[in-house]
Amino acid sequence: MGIEELTALSRFYGADRNYIIAGGGNTSYKDDSTLWVKGSGVALGEITPEGFVALDRVKLAGLWKLAGAGTSREREAAVLAGMMGARKPGEEAKRPSVETLLHDLLHFRYVVHTHPALVNGLTCSRGGEGALRDLLGTGVLWIPISDPGFVLALTVREKLEERKRTDGKIPEIIFLQNHGVFVAAHEGEKIRSLYTTIMDTLRKKIKRFPNFENPLPAGAVPGAERGVELLQNLSGGRVVFSRNNEIAAVVKSPGAFAPLSSAYTPDHIVYAGSDPLFIEKEIDIEGAWKAHVEKTGRPPKIVALEGVGIFGVGSTEKAAALAVELFIDAVKIAVYAESFGGPQCMTDEKIAFINTWEAEQYRAGLAT
Ligand SMILES: [Zn+2]
Repeated sequence: MGIEELTALSRFYGADRNYIIAGGGNTSYKDDSTLWVKGSGVALGEITPEGFVALDRVKLAGLWKLAGAGTSREREAAVLAGMMGARKPGEEAKRPSVETLLHDLLHFRYVVHTHPALVNGLTCSRGGEGALRDLLGTGVLWIPISDPGFVLALTVREKLEERKRTDGKIPEIIFLQNHGVFVAAHEGEKIRSLYTTIMDTLRKKIKRFPNFENPLPAGAVPGAERGVELLQNLSGGRVVFSRNNEIAAVVKSPGAFAPLSSAYTPDHIVYAGSDPLFIEKEIDIEGAWKAHVEKTGRPPKIVALEGVGIFGVGSTEKAAALAVELFIDAVKIAVYAESFGGPQCMTDEKIAFINTWEAEQYRAGLAT
């Protein structure tokens, strides 16, 4: 029970790439007076008890009154200041997860929030809400696409209250459109069994799984080594190449790339960018890069060369590899979403919010 169990749960899900990649996901444990939540920038897979921030729940409860205050930016800033102020003595060096208030809101002792590609195949699909009802019943809560942080916490709070009024039940599972899932329970074992049910149920409904066979290094693909060199010169950073059967299909034509041309979840924006650059065969790479930077105001983190493959671009090798990893996650989501009415990316408005969100920039900075 308690922090030891929370640490074990966090390491279990954090180390499994089917649930969590990059710095994503967060977990918590609570008693009546204290919430222990993952610190921002700590990797769940390697977390120790010191990686959690202890917060005063009475102080956290006082933050809901900020709902009506100022502009959304001012509100987010006030909530962040409030969360920092709720840290217990000795916790001053840590920064609580941006989803802290949502964790505190949930009625159960343990909360494990993850972003599995399988789950997001459903949350990023056109028929997601209906499919969820059919598969896991009406006891599971669906939250429509929302900005993360305080806005999301407010939305969940409202939906939970609505649910309490209508059927008196407290959902243990919450699916967030274009984001991921929250699973909550009083026992760690229950968290594990709920996750197993979710994953097994979804897996049975998938009509096609992505085919990542036949991976090829840049040296084995005509045009790839030149692409790496050119993109390294243009970006001044590092470039990681990727190609396998599924990626070959995705870069076959602009039409085949269309489901990957935007972003599915906030994590995809943070690590792989919201504007991947697709360059058709006859187009000059340097010209396309410059036009893209001019149009979007930032260099792309993913470049696709028609018929060649995918190039992750970053300031470091690690950042470039992360971009590729998140792109491959997006490929999985796009394929899984075919089983739920077809993929659906985030809206432009929600993407713009993430692109400028201070907390996300902070997290992206830590990861690199
Ligand atoms: Zn999340």
